[in-house]
Amino acid sequence: MELSKISNQELLGRMDKLVRTERKITHVILCHINEVDARRLYADLGFESMFKYLTEHCGYGEDSAYRRLQAAKVLRKAPEIAEKLEDGSLNLTQLTQVQKCIKQESKAGNSIDSVQTLQILEQIQNKSSYETKKVLAVEFNQPIQMHEVLTPQRDDSIRLGLTLTPDQMKDLSEAKDLLSHILPDGNWAEVISYLAKVHIQKIKGKERKEPSPHVEASSIVTMEKSSSTHGFLVTRKRQHIKITDRRKLLHKANHCCEYVDLKSNKKCQSSYQLQIDHKIPLARGGSHSFDNLRVLCRTHNLLSARQWGL
Ligand SMILES: [Zn+2]
Repeated sequence: MELSKISNQELLGRMDKLVRTERKITHVILCHINEVDARRLYADLGFESMFKYLTEHCGYGEDSAYRRLQAAKVLRKAPEIAEKLEDGSLNLTQLTQVQKCIKQESKAGNSIDSVQTLQILEQIQNKSSYETKKVLAVEFNQPIQMHEVLTPQRDDSIRLGLTLTPDQMKDLSEAKDLLSHILPDGNWAEVISYLAKVHIQKIKGKERKEPSPHVEASSIVTMEKSSSTHGFLVTRKRQHIKITDRRKLLHKANHCCEYVDLKSNKKCQSSYQLQIDHKIPLARGGSHSFDNLRVLCRTHNLLSARQWGL
C-alpha cells in the first residue's frame, strides 16, 4: 500500500503498532542473544565473540550490536524488566548506560547484584538519556570531574571538555534558546563563539563587523502569516506588537511554546525559535490585541499557518 494515500489517523495508528511490535521483537532478540551466548554457538560458527557474530553474521552495525549486547547482560541479571522494555518505559540506550556502570563497579571490585540492579532500573524508568545519566551518577557515586581538557586535533580544531555549575549551564542554555533564530543549528561551540564575539565587539567597539548589532531585537521574532501568490507560506517581520506585550507574553508562557495537542493534552514546551503568533491571523481578520497573541515555537507557528490555510 502506498503510505502517502492513507489517512493521518491510520498512519499514526500504524506507527504506534509498529513501534510496539519493534519493542517486543527487541526484547525477544535480547533473550535470544543471551541464549546463543550461553551456548557459545558463535564459536561453532567460527566467530571469536558474540560481538563478531552480531556484526558479521547478523549484520548489525557496531553501535547497534554493542547496545544489544550490553542490554542483554542487564536483562539476564534482571529478567523482570521484560515488560518495561516492551512498553517502552526502559530502552536499549538506558540499559547500555546501566551495564557500563555495573562493569565499572565490578572493575573497582564492587559487584552489583540483581536486587540493586532492579532498584536502579526502577529509578530510570521513563527518563531521558540525560536524566538517566544523572540518576546513575548519583547511584554509582561517580566522581565529579573538575579539570578542563583542551585536546588539539589533526585539523587544528580543539576538543574542549569542561564542567559547569547548574547556574552556569542554565545561563548558557537560556542564551542558546534566545540565539536560536540566529544560530538554528545551535551547537554549543557556535553559541559560545557567538557570545565571545558579541563581548569582544562590545569591549572593542565597532572594529569587528560581525555579529550584527541587533542581536537582542531579533532574539524573539514576531512572524505574521500571510499567503503569497504562489501559495507558499510567507513570513515577514512585524514591528507592531509592543515590546512590553512581547515581554509579558513570553513571561506568561514561561519562555516556552504554548501549543497543546487537544486530544492528548500534550504541551510542546519547546524554547527553540520562539515566535509571537496571532491566534487568529491578521490575514483572517485577527488583531494585535493581547488576547489574540501567544508564544509558539517555529514548528507550531508553521503548523498554525497550515491549519489556517496560509
Ligand atoms: Zn511548539
